Amino acid sequence: MTIFTKIINREIPANRVYEDDHTLAFHDVDPQAPIHILVIPKKEVKDFQSCDSETIGYLLSAAQAVAKKLKLDESGYRVVINNGKDAGQEVAHLHLHILGGAKLGHIRHQDRTRKD
Ligand code: AMP
Repeated sequence: MTIFTKIINREIPANRVYEDDHTLAFHDVDPQAPIHILVIPKKEVKDFQSCDSETIGYLLSAAQAVAKKLKLDESGYRVVINNGKDAGQEVAHLHLHILGGAKLGHIRHQDRTRKD
């Protein structure tokens, strides 16, 4: 069981901003932007690559609802999913990052070619 399942089950606290039958959204504990929200499926799915399209649809709809609720829909925001170790996925429960609340920098490639 991951930390996110414990948040769903209210075994550990989170600053929740949105919830529906299929998804939960809460503030990231280590925000990388003035507003940094994680949106997760209630169903246990380890990553984006193994996720079915119905669940992805629920997550994307929830992200739109969160953006509207937090008034990011007009100012703009970024949606990010880290999939697997090269992307730095830390928690093995699919989660979508919503980043906003300021003008965000562009993500540029740095040469960190894998050595393995
Ligand atoms: P990722 O690197 O894509 O796997 O992102 C995992 C995210 O989960 C990171 O941004 C962490 O700051 C965040 N995180 C880890 N534990 C918690 C928690 N208990 N509550 C909220 N966010 C968390």
